[in-house]
Amino acid sequence: MAKVLIPTPLRQYADKRDSVELTGATVAEVLGALTTQYPDLRKQIYNDEGKLRSFVNVYLNDEDIRYLKKEATSVASNDTLSIVPSIAGGSTGVATPPATLSNDEILRHSRHLIMPEVGIEGQLKLKNAKVLLVGAGGLGAPLGLYLSAAGIGRIGVVDFDVVDFTNLQRQVIHGTKDVGRKKLDSASERMRDINPNVQIDRYEVALSSENALEILSGYDLVVDGTDNFPTRYLVNDACVLLKKPNVYGSIFRFEGQATVFAYPGGPCYRCLYPEPPPPGLVPSCAEGGVLGILPGLIGLVQATEAVKLILGAGDPLVGRLLLYDALAMRFRELKLRKSPECPACGDHPTITKLIDYQQFCGIPQHQPAPEPGLAQGEIDPVDVKKKIDRGDRFLLIDVREPHEYQICNIPYARLIPLGELPKRVHELDSAIEIVAHCKSGVRSAKACDFLRQAGFRKVKNMKGGIVAWSDKVDPRVPKY
Ligand code: ZN
Repeated sequence: MAKVLIPTPLRQYADKRDSVELTGATVAEVLGALTTQYPDLRKQIYNDEGKLRSFVNVYLNDEDIRYLKKEATSVASNDTLSIVPSIAGGSTGVATPPATLSNDEILRHSRHLIMPEVGIEGQLKLKNAKVLLVGAGGLGAPLGLYLSAAGIGRIGVVDFDVVDFTNLQRQVIHGTKDVGRKKLDSASERMRDINPNVQIDRYEVALSSENALEILSGYDLVVDGTDNFPTRYLVNDACVLLKKPNVYGSIFRFEGQATVFAYPGGPCYRCLYPEPPPPGLVPSCAEGGVLGILPGLIGLVQATEAVKLILGAGDPLVGRLLLYDALAMRFRELKLRKSPECPACGDHPTITKLIDYQQFCGIPQHQPAPEPGLAQGEIDPVDVKKKIDRGDRFLLIDVREPHEYQICNIPYARLIPLGELPKRVHELDSAIEIVAHCKSGVRSAKACDFLRQAGFRKVKNMKGGIVAWSDKVDPRVPKY
């Protein structure tokens, strides 16, 4: 006789009994005997095709039968069968780590499961893992795609940027249709499409000294896909303070780097670079350019390291800086040592809490005043105001987002967000002079370039954007 344990929610279908002794040679026979004795239970456990429902797990002693030989598994007397349905309840808000994979997940991840280095155990580790992705841009794109596909159970994404046309050359998680959308929206939509089982936590913020510890503390490891020095140091210091591995990658033109920082016993970013370069010395990708494919390769090195760390498999890229030169098609590896003098992870750390990273990197808190004088194709806001007052025939377009338009706007301007410009270009008359503005002049410069390429000849960029308008023309317009 085998014993079948009936869980609380199902006892109402089994005369309120908590266990039943039954005979049968296999799991299927024992469950058959059970549901013959209690026909109402049958509907709860089996679907119309006679298959075990996906939210019902059956354990033989302490093994999940789906990983044995399913219902054909033989049952000896004194064995215990437990029926364990999934339960939606629990009011603490703390999810219990999933102990099993659903049949869908088993099928989805079958190429992992048949590898001894992963298997069910490894796939469950991935499912229970929580990874924070800082940035949904160049590096974040392949990371988001592959970490979702790999079955990481929970992925946090920190990003507050909007997709633009210049992103599409490398940020393959976003599509042309996503231009103008929040990167968080477009990335999480794509990740969910790849793997609906992934829980995506969205952080539409700039990571800062105020929020970093709180955000990072919810994750097992951090993958740094940022593009600026202040955030690099912030992520590093927060990871060191929280003792969480920081999977690092960086890219510039044809060259990339990757390593794992803040791993127990290993070096951190400050061991390598105690201080940032002076601002302006190392150009950003926006200034210096980047081969679109490069972040794909470096991001996938990071994704590989993240998965290895979760699985505990192989040799992590700790204490080794991987250098990749795409032009030479050469990988090199440099030894990295943990520095006893490191201000973050050394013997006498001075970084015991997060600091002001903008200041640390020598970046002024406010935008520097624009250079005096106008470049070609620019117009001063004062002259735009004169044109409006004179009643000149021209069109002023505001290429910011609608929510920015709500914060402040120039009543004369027509709102055409930069992302919508390509599909709304037919609304514009190339015979009439067009002046474009945005917040500070960067996006409207892109709009002007786009329009010029589209054949518009009389196009001007309002220098300094609506911020300059507020300074020079109408101080009632709020700056944001
Ligand atoms: Zn260090």
